[in-house]
Amino acid sequence: MSIKAPRGTKDVLPSDAYKWNYVEHLFRDVCTRFGYKEIRTPIFEHTELFKRGVGETTDIVQKEMYSFEDNGGRDITLKPEGTAPVVRSFIENKLYADTQPTKLFYITPCFRYERPQAGRLRAFHQFGVEVFGAINPSVDAEVIGIAMAFYKALGISNLELRINSIGCPECRGKYNKILKEYLKEKLPKLCKTCQDRYERNPMRIIDCKVESCKEQLKDIPLMIDHICDACKEDFEKLKENLSLMDIEYVVDPNIVRGLDYYTKTAFEIVSNEIGAQGTVCGGGRYDRLVEELGGPKTPGIGFGMGIERLLLTLQNNNIEIPKPKGLDIFIATIGERANKEAVRLLHKLRLEGISADKDHLNRSIKAQFKYANKLNASYTIVIGDDELDKDVVILKNMETSEQTEIQLSNIMRELKERL
Ligand code: ATP
Ligand code: MG
Repeated sequence: MSIKAPRGTKDVLPSDAYKWNYVEHLFRDVCTRFGYKEIRTPIFEHTELFKRGVGETTDIVQKEMYSFEDNGGRDITLKPEGTAPVVRSFIENKLYADTQPTKLFYITPCFRYERPQAGRLRAFHQFGVEVFGAINPSVDAEVIGIAMAFYKALGISNLELRINSIGCPECRGKYNKILKEYLKEKLPKLCKTCQDRYERNPMRIIDCKVESCKEQLKDIPLMIDHICDACKEDFEKLKENLSLMDIEYVVDPNIVRGLDYYTKTAFEIVSNEIGAQGTVCGGGRYDRLVEELGGPKTPGIGFGMGIERLLLTLQNNNIEIPKPKGLDIFIATIGERANKEAVRLLHKLRLEGISADKDHLNRSIKAQFKYANKLNASYTIVIGDDELDKDVVILKNMETSEQTEIQLSNIMRELKERL
């Protein structure tokens, strides 16, 4: 029996890898333009980090983590998201001692035990950014601006940016009281998940997708209507900054991130074409997370963006990613002497930065030309005994079919002129 890839995982085949390369390169480029530096953290962390950093009450920690005990008896988890590891690293490496803010981006695989479907995998990938040490809402707008600039550079235009404010510990505390008061009598009619969330994480009840709960909770009090003056002022500043940047948004009071250390700005970027898994980017402010994970009081904000969902969105918008260019040179040979010359010349070309290839399957000369076409070669160099005797090669332009005889000793100069 042959072994298949585990459920919820996907190979990126050579026929698709160029798309990944393209979006990764572009993301790095956009982040760099915004003054962000790359950070790479390990694939696995102590399980405790995610319990504290993502939160015990979240779906991720309760049922989606790939956790195991390693041979040394440590509780280890494959990273389900990018923020907690970056916060851990920020604290551990004392990045807070550098000039602030610390502006970071990452590209990472993530692992979540979820029910696989289009745009939802068990091993998937994220682009993300995190900023530490700046409380000013201009940074919130900048972070959103990165995501929007990236989508714009890719030519995706029909996305909706949804923003909300989920307040600070002070107004959230007051709001939670109002919310629980409202929910008290409805509780018996709500689903088990909502009932579980009532004590520990009541704001997440807003997020419930069960129809009967939605029906019951039509007039649920919303955080945005209860934020304090300071939070309101920051939210207005965020909106003002977005407008200055010509970024359209809608206020969506239903965006919640129920954990205590998530504060103020919460946002999502949604594509309406890729079905149920329409959220292509999610982020927000977490002014208490660094402290929660043992660091000095430091505000933070960031987002995570699914790469598989991004590629699906591109596909659904019929946006073609430029195909990589083919080979510069294919060397076709007739006879064993020519083949030896090809081995020598091929390696020399490659060392000079020219992309080049030859046949390795003893193809006939006709089949070698076919192969050269398949590899999308710009030029083919033909070498046979006659040519070797004269110290020349034939250079064929594969587009125009034009052929030129070139002195072997001049070949580098001639090629560099043409490529
Ligand atoms: P969703 O609402 O789709 O479950 P989420 O709230 O769990 O998303 P985040 O934890 O905010 O998502 O992750 C950020 C982004 O990562 C999402 O917007 C999405 O694009 C992507 N993502 C999340 N989970 C998956 C998954 N299982 N497979 C592929 N992409 C994912
Ligand atoms: Mg999820």
